[in-house]
This record gives sequence, structure tokens and C-alpha cells, in this order.
Amino acid sequence: MGDNGLPGGLAWEEFVAASNRYRHTRNMGGTRLLELLTWSGKQWLLPRAYIEFLDRWALREEQLVDQARVCSSCGIKGPYWGGWRSSISTGYVTRCPPCSGAAFRSYAGHLRGVQYDSARRRGTRPDDYLSHLCKERQAAVWDHCHEHGYVRGPLCGSCNNRECKSLPYRFLQSGGTQHLLERHSCLEQRTLPPRFRLDVVRTHLEETERHGRCRTQPYAELQQEDPNGGHQFTLTCRWHSPSRWTKDVTASEAAMLVRAFVDAVQAPEEDPATVSPASDS
Ligand SMILES: [Zn+2]
Ligand SMILES: [Zn+2]
Ligand SMILES: [Zn+2]
Ligand SMILES: [Zn+2]
Repeated sequence: MGDNGLPGGLAWEEFVAASNRYRHTRNMGGTRLLELLTWSGKQWLLPRAYIEFLDRWALREEQLVDQARVCSSCGIKGPYWGGWRSSISTGYVTRCPPCSGAAFRSYAGHLRGVQYDSARRRGTRPDDYLSHLCKERQAAVWDHCHEHGYVRGPLCGSCNNRECKSLPYRFLQSGGTQHLLERHSCLEQRTLPPRFRLDVVRTHLEETERHGRCRTQPYAELQQEDPNGGHQFTLTCRWHSPSRWTKDVTASEAAMLVRAFVDAVQAPEEDPATVSPASDS
């Protein structure tokens, strides 16, 4: 702190200029407190009315967050902000899992093998159902495979968002694989949507590629895609930062890896006999 109470001995003008770069994030209750600051010679002061305003704002925000946690049907309060809240066609609603379970049907696959673009699909509302993935929230959309056009099932806003935007690896690991395959061509052809195929290959490279004799798992990143469906990945050792090498994966190698991945996910369900106690290795 300098004599004027500002960090790094900055003059007031310099401080304001530096803070301006972050003015969209550094505000309170939608206001900027910078212009209201007064230096008393010992400390920075703010007008009392402004402090009272900030207090009211903080209280109101707390109340709103609280309100968003309360189940609209039974009135009990949810675990944390956003947990029970989901977007529906008319806005947002908060409903606890038991109330959702009572209000909406669970999807039993009646649109299996039905095209998203069909009259039959259009005749069914996704919001009559529970989300097929979390099974906790009211669904908002009919999720479908963009490559094959088949309906996978009803999803709530946040599950649908996870499928499109979360790390593919996380989605696949948390029950998403079964949903993506949901009884259509993807399952028959033992494949996944492009963004997930790519991630299966990337994960495989990270598990198998090594930097010389180094044991550290490298970090793989897609470098480029060739028109024949092949991919080039760049690998970097997490431990030895200057190390970088590339690895080409052809389209058929990638397809093989994805098939193996799908088979591994399917195996326990399809054939319980294969889940015998494995011999120790
Ligand atoms: Zn409830
Ligand atoms: Zn969901
Ligand atoms: Zn598909
Ligand atoms: Zn290394």
C-alpha cells in the first residue's frame, strides 16, 4: 500500500485505469463503488446510504437464492443452489426428486427406434416425463442422435446441457454412454457421436502413449482432422514440459477403439456370465 492507501503506490488515476479493465466483473449490486470512495487521509470511506444499499442488496440476493431452492410442490428446501432447479418451456421450476417422481412418468422407451422428425415423436411431449439421465427433474427436450436421427429419450435442461457441453469423458463416465447408445443404430454399429468418439481415442492415447521411457501419462490434444476421417494428436508429457510428439490415428483405428469402448460398457449387461470373478493379474 502506498501513502494514499492504494496498492503498489499507484496514483488514483492509475488505479482507476487499472480497475477499468475489470469493470464488468468488479461491481457490487450492479453498481461501481470506485467513484464513491473518499480518502480520509487514513482510510477509504463510502457514503452511509450506499453501505445501507449494499446491505439491502445482499439480503435480497440471499432471499432470492433461498426461494429458488424451495420445491414448488411440497415446500421443502433443496440441498444447494441450482440442485432441483430446471428449465422448462415456460421458464424455471424447482421441484424435489420425490415430487418430480410423483408428477412425471419415467420414460420406458416407447419412442425407441422412432425418428426425431416423425409425426409420432411430435405427438409426445417430453415434459410429461422425467429426465432419462438424472431421473430427478422434469424433462424439457427429446434428445436424439444427430447422425442417425433416432430419439434417445427425454432430457432435462441440465442433462441436455451436460451432453452438449461438459467434458466428454465426464459425461461418458457418469452413465452417459448407455444413454447415447439408447437402442438405435449407434448401438448396432457400436459407435458414439463424433465429440465422444474423439474423446475415446484421446483417452486411449493418454493411457497408452509414453514419452520415451518416462512413466508419466501425457496430455493428448487433437491437432488436425484429415478428410478421410483420420486424426492427428499432439502429445505432451506433463512432467517434462519441452517434450512434444504427434500420433496419427486412422479412421479405422479410431472406429476400432470406439467399438472396444462400447463393448466394454455393454458387456456386463448383455452377458452376465462374463462377470465371473476375474483371475488375479
Ligand atoms: Zn417436493
Ligand atoms: Zn436430467
Ligand atoms: Zn446414432
Ligand atoms: Zn516425460
